[in-house]
Amino acid sequence: MHYLITGGAGFVGSHLADALLQRGDEVTVLDDLSTGAMRNIRHLKNRSGFTYVIDTVLNAPLLAELVDGADQIFHLAAAVGVRLIVESPVRTIETNVKTTEMVLAAACKKRKKVFVASTSEVYGKSVAVPFREDGDLVLGATSRGRWSYASSKAIDEFLAIAYWRERRCPTVIGRCFNTVGPRQTGHYGMVVPRFVQQALREEPLTVYGDGRQTRCFTHVADGVRAMIGLMDADDTVGEVYNLGSEIETPILALAERVKQLTGSESPVTFVPYREAYGDNFEDMPRRVPSLEKIRSAIGWEPVIGLDEILISVIEYERSLTPQAA
Ligand code: UDP
Repeated sequence: MHYLITGGAGFVGSHLADALLQRGDEVTVLDDLSTGAMRNIRHLKNRSGFTYVIDTVLNAPLLAELVDGADQIFHLAAAVGVRLIVESPVRTIETNVKTTEMVLAAACKKRKKVFVASTSEVYGKSVAVPFREDGDLVLGATSRGRWSYASSKAIDEFLAIAYWRERRCPTVIGRCFNTVGPRQTGHYGMVVPRFVQQALREEPLTVYGDGRQTRCFTHVADGVRAMIGLMDADDTVGEVYNLGSEIETPILALAERVKQLTGSESPVTFVPYREAYGDNFEDMPRRVPSLEKIRSAIGWEPVIGLDEILISVIEYERSLTPQAA
């Protein structure tokens, strides 16, 4: 099979490219390097079956050509990361909505199946844990910029479902829960690379709020395996699936574990949300997926635990900054 991966030079996209090439498929990556990086795909450059194009999904003629050449499409290009969303809401909303519209329209013309990457952020402030795919989305006021990300991704989901129901163009949606692993950047706020980098530099680990909020961290290799499984299956079409670990980790406990595993002497400091993200910021206390649906659809289970995740990130960060090792 030949796959097109939009956002393929990003953190998740590059691991997806690795996995598809590994099983003998061909991969074309389309990425504008806005948040992705050449270093994520450099190791694939001379690999047979791999090509990449540095350009935007908004280049319609190019997108049409790349869709033509592919059998299926993974649409991962998006503006992600709480910091980016809070600081650049126009970019977040426009990127996420426009690119998905364009990818779905181009793919539909050729009846090519599309995986649309969504996010657990769409559940918003819901307290109905574990979150089921048919549960309500509970978002805050539009004056609170954070929710623009969830709203833009919810529109992407509505659109992907509509393309299937109204036009019979096959789509499948994955809601990713805190996917982490090597190559993720901390620039846009993601907590695991930030804590690991802070620990390796012997800087304070910045826990936002009281640190009792939890997240379910999912290794990117588990996440990518789920995405491929959902695309390989026929009866997943037109459906939404949670894709994440069920094991909750409080953020303060995460900071302590990162310190232990790196042997760092860094102190842990508590930073009010207001200081981190400005006034009007809301965080969610818990975010836990129900895996019932994906388990029964494709038998998927995450298998990589928190320590293994952290060790893989620590090794990666040490390889980038050898002096910190
Ligand atoms: N967080 C933190 N310190 C940081 C970055 C993030 O305590 O330096 C917290 C953040 O407030 C949230 C959790 O870690 O409660 C996960 O944040 P991330 O941005 O990685 O993902 P989110 O789940 O918020 O999309």
